[in-house]
Amino acid sequence: AAKSEERNAFRFYSPIMQADARKRLQLASELRQALANDEFRLVFQPSLDLRTGRVVAAEALLRWQHPKRGLVMPDNFIPMAESLGLIRRIDEWVLRAACAWIKQWEHERVAPIRIAVNVSASWFGHPAFIEGLQRALRDYQVDPKRLLLEITESAILRLGEGTHRTMYALHTMGVGVAIDDFGTGYSSLAYLKLPAVVCLKIDRTFITGIPRNADDVAIVEAILAMARSLRLYAIAEGIEDEEQHEFLLRAGCEEGQGYLYARPLEVPDLMRMLKSGGNQPPTRLRLVP
Ligand code: C2E
Ligand code: MG
Ligand code: MG
Ligand code: MG
Repeated sequence: AAKSEERNAFRFYSPIMQADARKRLQLASELRQALANDEFRLVFQPSLDLRTGRVVAAEALLRWQHPKRGLVMPDNFIPMAESLGLIRRIDEWVLRAACAWIKQWEHERVAPIRIAVNVSASWFGHPAFIEGLQRALRDYQVDPKRLLLEITESAILRLGEGTHRTMYALHTMGVGVAIDDFGTGYSSLAYLKLPAVVCLKIDRTFITGIPRNADDVAIVEAILAMARSLRLYAIAEGIEDEEQHEFLLRAGCEEGQGYLYARPLEVPDLMRMLKSGGNQPPTRLRLVP
């Protein structure tokens, strides 16, 4: 009975599923075109040293300029790219593009900042990952210290056997890893001991509630205390107002990222911010429209 129900259900949903399959196929071919036709670009969201107000880093965030649909945000295509098996090629494109920018900025003598790149579990866990990373660093002559790889807590949980080896290789190369969206992954904390892990990025969902929500305050303080004892540094993401900034500064969070300081910026805007923001007196904020 269950089987025929299933068959009926399948028949019933079949037109929708076919539409979905068609859509998936179309998106897959559009993503391949995007790679081939240079429709991707990076924007960079500055990350500030909360004590000095200086920009010390920036996170590379992917944007897709679709020829018909216009600007497509990552949440609207990264998950699909993952399920279509295209995320590895996209991640590698992002890493290489970030390295190319680092090299160009060095050439232009722009103040050196650390560049964070998001990496999906599917690429991070792939046997060819380290080789691809080494190739990018070599091709663009990038100092590994300038790079930070962000991998989400939930992605780390999906990694298998090779995780230790990969982390060890990164550690040996001098490339740091940040645990992104930290606090949302329901995880064991064992991976915090992995070599190469140097940073926790506290998820925006906890930052939103401080300083008024007592639970969020407790969670953020606990994460900061843990980071300190493990000698990891912390970045708070999604800081949107002065009160959050003040709280995090007093709680000893090293770095912060969020609309309060700057949105993800096109490269010329990042350059402007770096040039004007080189020497901020402590705790004075630079607000970017
Ligand atoms: P994420 O790595 O946690 O990046 C932070 C996201 O939060 C960015 O959205 C950023 O624009 C947004 N954000 C930053 N500050 C604030 C704030 O103050 N308030 C609010 N409401 N939002 C803020 P974006 O650029 O849309 O990226 C979304 C997610 O897509 C990223 O989350 C990351 O998981 C993924 N992603 C982005 N670029 C890449 C990429 O190149 N490769 C991979 N694999 N994933 C990427
Ligand atoms: Mg990130
Ligand atoms: Mg994040
Ligand atoms: Mg996030």
